[in-house]
Amino acid sequence: MKTLTIAMVKRVFIQKGERGTAMSTKTTLMELDKRHLLHPATSAKDNFQHGPSLLAERGEGVYLYDSDGKRYIDGLAQLWNVNVGHGRKELAEAAMEQMSRLAFSHSFNRFSHETVIQLAAKIASLAPGDLNVCHFTSGGSESNDSAFKLARHYFALKGQPQRYKVIARNRAYHGVSMGATSATGLPVFREKVGPLADGFVHAPAPFCYHCELGKTYPDCQLACASQSIRELLEKEGPETVAAIIVEPIQGAGGVIVPPPGYIQEVRSLCDEYGILMIADEVITGFGRTGKWFGIEHENVVPDMLTFAKGVTSGYIPLGGVIISDRIHRELTENSSGVLPHGFTYSGHPAACAVALKNIEILETEGLIDNARAMGEVLSRHLEQMKAATPGVGNTMCRGLLAQIELVQDKAGKKSFDPSLKVANQVFEKALQKGLITRAISHLGNDIIALCPPLNINEQQLAEAAAILTESIEEVMSGLAISQ
Ligand code: PLP
Repeated sequence: MKTLTIAMVKRVFIQKGERGTAMSTKTTLMELDKRHLLHPATSAKDNFQHGPSLLAERGEGVYLYDSDGKRYIDGLAQLWNVNVGHGRKELAEAAMEQMSRLAFSHSFNRFSHETVIQLAAKIASLAPGDLNVCHFTSGGSESNDSAFKLARHYFALKGQPQRYKVIARNRAYHGVSMGATSATGLPVFREKVGPLADGFVHAPAPFCYHCELGKTYPDCQLACASQSIRELLEKEGPETVAAIIVEPIQGAGGVIVPPPGYIQEVRSLCDEYGILMIADEVITGFGRTGKWFGIEHENVVPDMLTFAKGVTSGYIPLGGVIISDRIHRELTENSSGVLPHGFTYSGHPAACAVALKNIEILETEGLIDNARAMGEVLSRHLEQMKAATPGVGNTMCRGLLAQIELVQDKAGKKSFDPSLKVANQVFEKALQKGLITRAISHLGNDIIALCPPLNINEQQLAEAAAILTESIEEVMSGLAISQ
């Protein structure tokens, strides 16, 4: 039986305006959430029992405020996406101006419009090498699925339809649509939704702190690529492989910064076997690492680069894939039919207008330089934590994308018993103290991820580091650890 009717909800809102309290609105919203919202990547059971853990109300700069007016430093830029920070009215104005003038026009059948053209040209001017041609989507998963299908289509046009497989890595997160889920290497997203798409295989993650091959960098000579990917290729038959997809830094898998030379090794394997390299820059794109794109740290140009999140700083959904001139040439010269792919919202005018304004903000406010400079400050805080805070076994950081790994035994790199949910405990403590982070604990390690807006300053970073240190110390004081 439906116990809360729309009339009841409306009454609460009317009461708020007339004589009700914010509290009554909050209680009603919590109740409605429990009953009517299926949250992404959330325990449906927990949410149904307890309701939302944070009811966001407004944002300003690096801060988010909840419905009780409590202020949080948004240490994860929400979902690694609010690159220019919260409360940017100029982005809302860009959407309003575009919607008032041309709310929608599609890009099928050679229709086009000025805003999507300007954005494609702008992104091409920023992207490395000969990545010059954009295809737009509404998010990261769609972008990766687009890249997989474009890779297969490219080889089909070249007379190699047998090349359909994709090599991804363990711990990779590429999204949740069927192709993206199949490429994702996190068991929690792959289980209980199968069968997944055919042809996706996984190589070891380049995670030196817990090397899957039991080796040590640099003595390993990058065996996770040079040996493991090569073996996988030989096992699958290299003539059947279309692409290798890599996040320049694996985000949801634990913010894993690969060792020097790893990405180059992947590129040279792609070249050797005639395979396309896809860089998934959904998190690392648009300034996050102190360069426009994460792959630029590696001096490597992929054949396709997927993006989303930071392209609009999350103000409106948009994603895309930018492809090389070589792939584009194949499409323009050798395809006779239509491109067998494309979304209603490929190049939505309002989303493109917001992206253009967002990129302008990144440029005019020097936010990429700030990400680089503040990334150095953040690195120093992390080094300090590693040296002096109990339980901090490892840290990794590039630009404003970082992680802290908590271990029971620093010398032996021994992780905590997963049932203790140590990363979640730290996440909860930090949240209580006004810092939003991300706990990554479903892979047997306890990792706290940090990814603040790119306009964060030194003082705000110091406050975030102090809250985190205190939270870790408090959690560790209740645990048996050996340092
Ligand atoms: N790729 C990476 C690296 C991501 O981190 C994500 C999301 O976090 C995605 C793809 C999927 O993006 P979306 O949630 O917009 O579909």
